Amino acid sequence: MNLPSQFVERVTTQLGEEVAALFNALRESPPVSLRIHTGKFERSLPLDSVPWANDGCYLSHRPVFTLDPLFHAGCYYVQEASSMFLEQAVRQIGATEEPLKVLDLCAAPGGKTTHLMDLLSRESLLVSNEVIRSRAWVLAENVLKKSGTNTIVTNNDPVDFGVLGTTFDLMVVDAPCSGEGLFRKNRDSINEWSPENLNLCSQRQRRILTDALPSLKVDGHLIYSTCTFNPEENEEVVRWLIREHGYELVDLELDETWGFAEVDIMGSAAYQAFPHRVRGEGFFLAVLRKTQPSKVTSQLKLAEKKRRPKKRSRSRCGSCETETASPIRQTFERVTRRKSKEFEPWLNLDGERLQFVARGEQAYAFSKNNVEQLLMLAERLKVITVGLPVGEWKKHGFVAAHGLVLSELFNEEAFSVQNLTMQDALRYLRREPVETSLPDGVGAVAYEGHRLGWVKQIGSRSNNWYPQEWRIRMPLPEAEPWSILREV
Ligand code: SAM
Repeated sequence: MNLPSQFVERVTTQLGEEVAALFNALRESPPVSLRIHTGKFERSLPLDSVPWANDGCYLSHRPVFTLDPLFHAGCYYVQEASSMFLEQAVRQIGATEEPLKVLDLCAAPGGKTTHLMDLLSRESLLVSNEVIRSRAWVLAENVLKKSGTNTIVTNNDPVDFGVLGTTFDLMVVDAPCSGEGLFRKNRDSINEWSPENLNLCSQRQRRILTDALPSLKVDGHLIYSTCTFNPEENEEVVRWLIREHGYELVDLELDETWGFAEVDIMGSAAYQAFPHRVRGEGFFLAVLRKTQPSKVTSQLKLAEKKRRPKKRSRSRCGSCETETASPIRQTFERVTRRKSKEFEPWLNLDGERLQFVARGEQAYAFSKNNVEQLLMLAERLKVITVGLPVGEWKKHGFVAAHGLVLSELFNEEAFSVQNLTMQDALRYLRREPVETSLPDGVGAVAYEGHRLGWVKQIGSRSNNWYPQEWRIRMPLPEAEPWSILREV
């Protein structure tokens, strides 16, 4: 591995003699790890576990996850182990017990969001945001596979949150960074590294924080993380938050054997993972508490001005009015009992406190105690998806959404489900025809009891309803591929 010479100089100054161990670790292959989605995969795992994350585990090699049907069923998320350290921060500030309003600001592809979905209480609200539109759709896919009813996926600039006013009890900012910590996992980040880029990243991190932090409540917590080693993107940002914005650092209790280094910042600690000390990649995390209201910046004032309702413009047809905003800003409304009766029997609602909401013809199930907040946020943010997509009203009736078949709310008594062999499951996931013996109508197919998607059976023909955009494109191997089931 050819490391940039200025990077070598910088880490040598930072680590002294220890740097040789870092370079050795960077020559090794990165550990492979994943996080099981509880609720979807209830098995005790005799796996090599990640000590700082209850459902994290290492694998002995890197399999082709795309060819494991249970990956597509949302049974687990492939995630780098150091970044699962978020769990310690969330647990130790008590965020797993209380109903909180949480924002994951830089959330795609969804590692931290799907982890938060498992960690936060069911009464909490999670807004999971990604500024880059194409990445926001990938985030939405991962959120859908995890399944939940209290998450909103948005596609907004950080300042759009700043103008909301104090809303959140907890904000996670896993900031875009120079990516030094991922050198052995992502070789492109080596070529992209330069001191200039690192400075740009550091400025961008401060801008993102300044723009979004006004929406964090006083006394609320900020979890700031990067996958870098350098002080400019890490401890200097934290020092700036303390000095300029009145934040205070919150110490965590760690097991020394995990290998995380404590970075002393004005007498308190932030945490750094180096790949030669921790079984994972480079990662930095600090937990801060907000002690005073945010300053109102000129950027925020400008954004507030822009946000004022736009004039309505006559559409070409002349008979209806349309707003000049993006169509995704269409609002949500509560679904009446009369309308929800069409699909309620499809869901297992035992003990669930849900409210059905609709945007246009699409219906979603959302946690009842957060529905007011959803309706308010949907007026002001670009919402990609919310809660559990249940289905859509079409000309010939209500059609179930893919989200429902993957969810724990799927009512097994309302649909027939057929298990497929591994080869047939993969063919189904490639959107090829598969033979089933399901009764006529809409049914589901599964692999080893884990549902993969819908089919519509008409006589001896079975129409594959797997989402076109998610289908597996790689060819199928002759030999039986790896599955997480092999490990349990
Ligand atoms: N938290 C994610 C996870 O665990 O899967 C990884 C987040 S990645 C480190 C940083 C994210 O910030 C990227 O998805 C990137 O698109 C987004 N980003 C880039 N520029 C941004 C900006 N100016 N404001 C907010 N987010 C930005």
